[in-house]
Amino acid sequence: MKILDVIILGAGASGLMCASNISKKKSVLIIDKNEKIAKKLKVSGGGKCNITNVSVETNNFDGDSELVTSVLKRFSKDDLVDFLDRNRVTLEIRKGRYYFCQQSSDEIIDVLKNATKKHEFTLNEEIIALSKEDDIFTLKTKTSLFYAKNIVVATGGKSFVNLGASDIGLTIAKSFDIEVKEFTPALVGLTVQKEQFWMKELSGLSCYVKIKVADRVINEEMLFAHKGISGPAILSASLYWKKGNMSINFLPNVNILELAEGSKKLVSSVIPLPKRLSKELLKAVDLIDKECKKLSSEDKKKLSQLHSYSFAPAGNFGFTKAEVSRGGVVSNELDFNTLESKNVKGLYFIGEVVDITGELGGYNFQWAFSSAYICSKAIK
Ligand SMILES: Cc1cc2nc3c(=O)[nH]c(=O)nc-3n(C[C@H](O)[C@H](O)[C@H](O)COP(=O)(O)OP(=O)(O)OC[C@H]3O[C@@H](n4cnc5c(N)ncnc54)[C@H](O)[C@@H]3O)c2cc1C
Repeated sequence: MKILDVIILGAGASGLMCASNISKKKSVLIIDKNEKIAKKLKVSGGGKCNITNVSVETNNFDGDSELVTSVLKRFSKDDLVDFLDRNRVTLEIRKGRYYFCQQSSDEIIDVLKNATKKHEFTLNEEIIALSKEDDIFTLKTKTSLFYAKNIVVATGGKSFVNLGASDIGLTIAKSFDIEVKEFTPALVGLTVQKEQFWMKELSGLSCYVKIKVADRVINEEMLFAHKGISGPAILSASLYWKKGNMSINFLPNVNILELAEGSKKLVSSVIPLPKRLSKELLKAVDLIDKECKKLSSEDKKKLSQLHSYSFAPAGNFGFTKAEVSRGGVVSNELDFNTLESKNVKGLYFIGEVVDITGELGGYNFQWAFSSAYICSKAIK
């Protein structure tokens, strides 16, 4: 019976980063059910991977802020950018915020491939279960049994099953009595209730908005879609929306009452948005389109609702469309310095399987890489 030093479950962003930083003196096996490594990384950011952000703060993450701070302190955004720079990956900054690969996400995948070639891979192998006896883990896959002294669970979340996603990480955690929060879709479009079906009629249109949700304010583009609402603003809002109302300012950069004041134009012509959208917005706030000059004070109250249109979404587009899964192994179960389970020695959890979820904008890869790095340094 061959007993390995480490088996890493999952050849995605975190699993590969962890393997990259473990010495070749150790026997390391990386297992994945896909026929290729890093499938999510490959398609991310439209094939150019939004790897991190110029500003990475604890409050860009949903989850235990102490854990996030502790992990980012030891492998920060600058450490990630340096790591890629040392490996000749040229990044570009888009919209003054987002780090993307200049050519393609293959640049990062090639770095990880190169850094892990000292280790063994078993691909096309589905992980089924994990158990432990006398300090040795037994990993059961669809076709074999593997044995190791340490296990790193890097199996990610449940979004995009076609890219290999599963909740095996949570199944494994639960089998060791480790507390988890079930996965729910996040960074995902939202469906709307009957009162907001007008939004679906605008499918294809987008506009810059300011959204208030829970205690967060998001300034980004939203997109009207045939299933509901989407685009960066809504994806970010979905991370913080659990249920109840959110509020959208459709005109964050102007004061509509000032624009309309004394004008002989129709209200719909004064609203600086596409005509189709302006007309639907007026209907939504129950205001008949008319000359601005003729607006009563009641009408003005309705018009000002365009700055704070409050409504309750119905739900979300689900795991098939969600960029990430919120939930995972709860922070209390983990040693913040190593990401090792407090109760099961030699069992580590990294990446999206941990109950930390980043906002849109490169934060989830940052978490995957940072958590992987500190775990790799902890494996003795
Ligand atoms: C379409 C899309 C675009 C995205 N774009 C971005 C972006 O631009 N920037 C950003 O920061 N984040 C982005 N994300 C999120 C990001 O991809 C994830 O947060 C990140 O990949 C998580 O890394 P991970 O290593 O934890 O999991 P993953 O990268 O998902 O890796 C998990 C691996 O485990 C394997 N696995 C799962 N279950 C089993 C099993 N039972 N047996 C064997 N293997 C298994 C999977 O096949 C997979 O290879 C995007 C996500 C999606 C879906």
